[in-house]
Order: sequence, then structure tokens, then C-alpha cells
Amino acid sequence: GCQKIIDKMDTELKKHQLETEVKVIKTGCFGLCEAGPIVIVYPEGAFYSRIEEKDVERIVEEHLLKGRIVTSLLFKDAVEEGKVKSIDEVGFYQKQQRVALRNCGVINPEEIDEYIAFDGYKALAKVLTEMTPEEVIDVMKKSGLRGRGGGGFPSGLKWEFTAKATGDQKYVACNADEGDPGAFMDRSVLEGDPHAIIEAMAIAGYAVGADMGYVYIRAEYPIAVKRLQIAIEAAKEYGLLGKNIFGTDFNFDLEIRLGAGAFVCGEETALINSIEGKRGMPRPRPPFPAHKGIWNKPTLLNNVETYANVPQIMLKGADWFAGIGTEKSKGTKVFALGGKINNTGLLEIPMGTTLREVIYEVGGGIPNGKAFKAVQTGGPSGGCIPAAHLDTPIDYDNLIALGSMMGSGGMIVMDEDNCMVDIARFFLDFTVDESCGKCAPCRIGTKRMLELLDKIIEGKGEIEDIGRLEDLANTIKSASLCGLGQTAPNPVLSTLHYFKHEYEAHIIDKK
Ligand code: SF4
Repeated sequence: GCQKIIDKMDTELKKHQLETEVKVIKTGCFGLCEAGPIVIVYPEGAFYSRIEEKDVERIVEEHLLKGRIVTSLLFKDAVEEGKVKSIDEVGFYQKQQRVALRNCGVINPEEIDEYIAFDGYKALAKVLTEMTPEEVIDVMKKSGLRGRGGGGFPSGLKWEFTAKATGDQKYVACNADEGDPGAFMDRSVLEGDPHAIIEAMAIAGYAVGADMGYVYIRAEYPIAVKRLQIAIEAAKEYGLLGKNIFGTDFNFDLEIRLGAGAFVCGEETALINSIEGKRGMPRPRPPFPAHKGIWNKPTLLNNVETYANVPQIMLKGADWFAGIGTEKSKGTKVFALGGKINNTGLLEIPMGTTLREVIYEVGGGIPNGKAFKAVQTGGPSGGCIPAAHLDTPIDYDNLIALGSMMGSGGMIVMDEDNCMVDIARFFLDFTVDESCGKCAPCRIGTKRMLELLDKIIEGKGEIEDIGRLEDLANTIKSASLCGLGQTAPNPVLSTLHYFKHEYEAHIIDKK
């Protein structure tokens, strides 16, 4: 509904001859979906939420013409004892630290000048004119950045492997095929700050010796695709893509490839197949993409959020980035918070923030006074974490130790009313649908698991079915070809671990 608000604002400003005095900036997402559409009026920073067309007239007539903030339209947490809080003082934002999302909700993503005004392309200039490719890779390694797409592999090492691989042609690629249910981190970065990805990919190209890049993005993200296209064209016009960038002998070009919405195409080798125009099915690894990627050439593949950190790391240095987060998980992480939570939205927190802080301070707690039951991290590849572990600091290793994983950043909260067997079924149903069918453990095994879950949910289960589920899950995990199958049983295994009594209740109470 934001475009309607913008159109109405333009009309009202014209009506009151304010169009030269007041500038309307269309930005990317502010993150607080719960409160959208959001309008922030500066310099006061008045944080208006859930704005409808009819509210625009009041904002213009009261706030802009008479200088009186319309407190009844402010976000509920943006006003306390009559004092209007700025966006940074609102609970949802207080614990956040925005690195990947730094420009989302700040600049107009369709205006390259706005990105440049916020230090855009400064990192690329620095890298090309002051650093060798080895130095760039060294900074990446020292920063401790790990892949934000789910695996958490050290990014600097990946860059080094690709740089050292031999090949007459190399590529860099960006995985923007975000397919987890409830996840929209990469979409928001591309919609809100597309130049950051272009800049990062050019830096990566320089570091590994590639002159061509591909952004693989799902076609279901039309706004992200459009803004990225606009950004690529503007970057070409400004000489920031193409030949002799910043007057150096570095050439780099970028193209978009659209995915058709298959979850498996988020797996790196399936994505590479799809870029090549083949069916999106995983290939056995090794060889890894760093050696044989797109058209069997050395390829560096990172996801959107990983790239979004790169320009800041190059500008502010490895030590700055490594100073954020925990010992083994540096920097920040973007999460899409959804489910039974008051502040649904997109947030970016330093690694090491606890789940409790995310759910109760950033997320504003559980609606309707209900009790928290569990949080699912890592989407269909992750697991459910119960209340007993709410004080766990979020990092790659802690989440794995709890039977879940970071994944790309989906975080779905369950309250006391949710049945955990239903939750496990929901995610397994998703992976059964999305299995590409190439290998038997995943293609057949996940279907059999789903049948067992259905049997239990329908009250026809036997107590032995729990053991059968566990056996199947462990076989699928160890025998599947790619990450989709290897992690598909996680929601079932984690709910069996923490909520076995709910499975048993379905079986024992069957009538
Ligand atoms: Fe395809 Fe599943 Fe095998 Fe991956 S694990 S290759 S998705 S069948």
C-alpha cells in the first residue's frame, strides 16, 4: 500500500504548494513490517505507522504546515509520556546494529546518487586504487565473515580458493534465490540497497580475478529484480561497471538470471546448473564451485547478505567487523522474524545476542499474553528451539549444538497453542514438494516420513512409528546428495528431541 501513500503525499504537497520545500523519498524496507506502511518525517524523525491514504492529509496539514506532530498516528512505542522518540529509540531498533541493512529505509534505492552520498562505491575505489587482490582477500579472512546463506563457511577462504584456482575465465555469482518460507532478508537488501551488492560483487571480481558476475534471483521478487536492473544500468552509466573502472585496467560486468522459484536452486550446484540453462539439480561435490562452477570455470558464489557486508568491511577494516559478534561468529545477522510475535519484521543484530533479547526486546514478546513455546530457526533446514534455551547467544555453532541452524535467517515463533507435530509436518511437507528427485533417500525417504507424520496426526499412529521416523530421518540425513535432503529431517528430529511428548500424546490419546 506504500505507493498509494506516496501518490497521496505528492498530491497533498502540491495542493499546499509544499512540493519544493518537502522532499518525499521512497526507500526500501524499514524492517518493522508490523507497523507498515511507515512514514518518517524529518528533521523531527516522527515515526508514523500503519498510515492510510486518509492520514496523509493530517500529516501534511498538522505536521508540515503547523509543526504539530500527530501523536495519534505515531507508532505505539514511538511516544512515551508525551515525548516523541526517534526511530533508534524505539524498542524494535534499540538492540539492532545495521551493517547489511544500513541503507534500507534510508536511501532511495533507485537513485545511484543517494547510494554514493552514503559512501557508496568508495570501497570499490579504495580496493581498486590502493589494494592488491591478495590484500583484499586478507582483509576478508581477518574480518571473520562467514557465509550468510546458511552454511557459515568462512568467506575469505572461499575467496582465496577461487583466486588460487586456475582458469582462463572466472565468475562471481550472487545467490538471491531465497526460498525459505517466511524469509525475506535478501529480498529486502536487494529492494532497499541494490548498489551494495553490485559494489561487493565488483570487489569480489577484482579479488578473485573475475570480470563477469551473475545475480541469480527468483522471479517472484519483481521489485528486487526491477531495482537491481535500474541499479546495474546506472552503475554502467557512471562507469562503475564495464571497462577500466576508476581508470584502472579492471573490467567487470554483471547480468541477472531469473530463477523459477525452486527451493533447491538455492543449493549452489543446482543454482549453477540453472544459470547454465539446465534443469536446477545439484551436482555431486567435489569438485566445488571454486574450482568448477559456472560452465566448469572457477566461480565464487556468495549470498546477498554476505555481499552486503563487504563494502563496509573494506571501508572500515577487518578489525572493526571482527570486533562485532562472538569469537567464532563475527559481525551481525539479519533475521526475518515472524509467527506468533508482536513485532513481525526484519532485524539485524550483532551475533551473540540471545534468543530472549530477540523475542522479547526486539520482537516485543508474544501477542495476547500467550506463553512462548519454541522458535524455529533456519527454515525447513533448521529446528525448533524450546523456552529452556532462550538465553542462548545466537551464533552458528550454538544453534547447531541445539539441533537447529542459522540457515539464511528465517525465525518463526510458536506459542502455547501451536502443535509441534503440525509444525514439523508443515516444514517436511515443504521439503517433500521441493525435493528435486535426483537421489532416493530424499525423494522417497521424506515422503515416507511425511506419511508417518500424517498417520500420527490423524490419530492412527503406533508408538513404534516414532522410532521409524528417527531411523528414516538419520538415513536421509547421512545419505542424501545435497543440503536439502541432508537437512530436511531437522524439524522432525528437533521436535522429537524437545517435544516427544506431543508425538506420544497424538498416539496415546488417539480416539
Ligand atoms: Fe535432489 Fe533431495 Fe537429492 Fe538434493 S537431496 S539432490 S534435493 S533429491
